[in-house]
Amino acid sequence: MRRNSKHRDLPPVGGAPGMDRSRRLISTLLNWYNSHGRDLPWRKTSNPYHILVSEIMLQQTQVTRVQEKYPLFLQRFPSLHSLARGPQRDVVVAWQGMGYNNRSVRLHRLAKEVVREHGGRLPLDFGALTRLPGVGPYTANAILSFAFGQQVPVVDVNVRRFLSRVFWPMTSTVALRKEKEIWVVARRLVPGGAASQWNQALMDIGATVCTSRQPSCRSCPVSHLCMSSASMVALPARHLREEPSLHGVPNRIYRGRIIQELRRHNAGRKIRADRLGKRIHPCFTPKYERWLANLLTGLHRDGLIVLHGNGSLDTRYVALA
Ligand code: SF4
Repeated sequence: MRRNSKHRDLPPVGGAPGMDRSRRLISTLLNWYNSHGRDLPWRKTSNPYHILVSEIMLQQTQVTRVQEKYPLFLQRFPSLHSLARGPQRDVVVAWQGMGYNNRSVRLHRLAKEVVREHGGRLPLDFGALTRLPGVGPYTANAILSFAFGQQVPVVDVNVRRFLSRVFWPMTSTVALRKEKEIWVVARRLVPGGAASQWNQALMDIGATVCTSRQPSCRSCPVSHLCMSSASMVALPARHLREEPSLHGVPNRIYRGRIIQELRRHNAGRKIRADRLGKRIHPCFTPKYERWLANLLTGLHRDGLIVLHGNGSLDTRYVALA
């Protein structure tokens, strides 16, 4: 491991001065990753467009589902140019099964913008990347690290949890350090020349060993270096802000059903709004009209659908944008 003076400033790990323990953490985790890292298709490429697609998909969808859909999406849109040229409704259709369809609209806008503003190549600059639709600090650094080999950290939810526990004594499984603090630690930890591998190792141990509810401290390769090893009380995840819902089903699920129905209905063809209501909710009656109208307005605002007509739902028509 190359000596790196950045490590001197790290908080202590396991109660000892930061530098040596941090180096041991890095070498132990990289060794573990060599034999236990997940075999994922987007790790076999450095194609920036492929990495981008995988990262946008992984933002809100489970890895197993992304593994299934990622090759199909790339088959349909093999390059950033083909994505930018494609009609938006085809992109939304190709996104089928991923959920959170807004991401497909943002990805399509991003592709158009990259073609228009950057000659079809993703920029190599953090600021320019984070100005693109749907790209935040995590996604920007993931692209810079995995596609362009830049020595930058990534901090997703798994990395944040893992580094919180390793560097600070966490008393419960729901406790986390502030994201800003974790970025500082993550930046200082990046081992020169091995950022991509290191970032993937961090994400994998957070996703498979140091999990949110049941961390496997006994079999964890870095338990001897961890401030929270076997000391946390398991607590149920904090309740997030209650989502708007109908009959206990969150509205985002109904939004997904609307898009699903429009895809089935043959993308581009219009369907009457009240008929759509019956397809997404078996007990749909006129008393739910306002609720459906709000969902449709939201989807229209997000650029996923177009609305035709005014007034009551039996005179309004909906189609994929
Ligand atoms: Fe996470 Fe436990 Fe490993 Fe610490 S010892 S990193 S808490 S799994």
